[in-house]
Amino acid sequence: MSDSIFTKIIKREIPATIVYEDDKVIAFNDIHPSAPVHILVVPKKPIVNLLDAAPEDAPLLGYLLEAAARIARDAGIGESGFRIIINNGKDGGQTVDHLHVHILGGKTLPITF
Ligand code: C5P
Repeated sequence: MSDSIFTKIIKREIPATIVYEDDKVIAFNDIHPSAPVHILVVPKKPIVNLLDAAPEDAPLLGYLLEAAARIARDAGIGESGFRIIINNGKDGGQTVDHLHVHILGGKTLPITF
């Protein structure tokens, strides 16, 4: 299987504005931000989406959310609040087939479904 765009970012093969990285996840600014703060948190393990996650990935999924909260706080939107979105599959609006958490904030977000 060829590397996803996000694996290429992890490998520094394509550029991104990286705001956080550790051994399990990387976080970078979305190139088409939908809010003043729009950060993607991506596991380094190339899981396609939540449907592709195995039971043994549960600690990593938990870590992804915990890291997202820390990254949101560090981005200055901990107090004001933020939204977490995980798109899954075509109808869910997923365009990159590598699991990622959107952190959105920096303004009052509209409820749009
Ligand atoms: O959830 P979805 O798959 O639609 O989100 C993918 C996101 O990845 C988009 O918001 C897009 O702007 C972002 N992206 C990025 N850097 C890239 C390619 C896509 O931030 N090189």
